[in-house]
Amino acid sequence: MAERAYITPIADEDLYVLDTASWRVYRPVMDKSKCVECGMCMTYCPVRAIIGTDDKKYKITYDYCKGCGICAAECPRKAIEMVLEGGAE
Ligand code: SF4
Ligand code: SF4
Repeated sequence: MAERAYITPIADEDLYVLDTASWRVYRPVMDKSKCVECGMCMTYCPVRAIIGTDDKKYKITYDYCKGCGICAAECPRKAIEMVLEGGAE
């Protein structure tokens, strides 16, 4: 089993946060059919685990997501649901 690094780089600023992804209890699941691509989830995620792609889609990086639920709370379309880790995607 590969050894995990318990730090997460934040953008290109040489800043790091403790990697809590391995301790996550809930994970955010995005319903793309509800998403209006506003980017609020990316803006509010404290560890920048949500990234925007070139075609303005938003993607959750589960290696970094700590399951705090802020993205789900801030999404104006309720397009993100927090589900128990290990449950259905
Ligand atoms: S906040 Fe909600 S609607 Fe906006 S990009 Fe994120 S998932 Fe889509
Ligand atoms: S649950 Fe928290 S850490 Fe994970 S993507 Fe949402 S805001 Fe970011």
